[in-house]
Amino acid sequence: MKRTTPVMTGVVMPGGWHYKENGKMIVEEAESFTDLIAKLAHYRATNSMPLGDPQADVENYICTNFPNMCGRIAQPPEEGVDPIELSYGQPVKKTPRERVMQWAANRMQKVGVVEFVPMDEAERRALMCAACPMKRQWNEPIEGCPGCQAYVEEIEVMLFKLRAGKHTIIMNDGHMCDVAGHDLEAASWMEEPALRHRRNYEGKFPEICWLKEL
Ligand code: SF4
Repeated sequence: MKRTTPVMTGVVMPGGWHYKENGKMIVEEAESFTDLIAKLAHYRATNSMPLGDPQADVENYICTNFPNMCGRIAQPPEEGVDPIELSYGQPVKKTPRERVMQWAANRMQKVGVVEFVPMDEAERRALMCAACPMKRQWNEPIEGCPGCQAYVEEIEVMLFKLRAGKHTIIMNDGHMCDVAGHDLEAASWMEEPALRHRRNYEGKFPEICWLKEL
């Protein structure tokens, strides 16, 4: 059965389809990704080498050396840390509302299990976010896009469930963190385990940020 591949096979790789091991050219020229795998297998067979997994080796070579050719999804580095979606080696660019949607969706299976900080701590965090230059509105209406409003409402329902209807006095509703992509009101209430997405953005938070204390 044909295996799927993260490699963008419809575009010729830089330098033409080739394969190196430890800097040594093994297959100098091939017509396609499939041909490259076949030529690597042939090279190993004719040199009395173990066959191994030529496709995996070719994919690793390409994804390591030419990440723009590779659509591999990065694995979460640690439990509870949100995966970063990659497209050809680069993080997928999302709108503010898409980022908040993704952040909320990643937590929905924990509804009812997410633990909350006391109200005074939630208020303290919300106050810092309210004064932070990284605060950004994510739910502004988009003219001529009724579907966008339905999308916003869907996110709001998820966020309400995630924070169990809790509200700070500051109320940063409809605003997100432009660094980490979370909804400010919901995140203000959450205990540390639900906030591990921050580890993907270490070094990017401003000095005043409360996430740096966790
Ligand atoms: S950087 Fe920190 S303080 Fe600023 S908006 Fe994001 S979470 Fe809030």
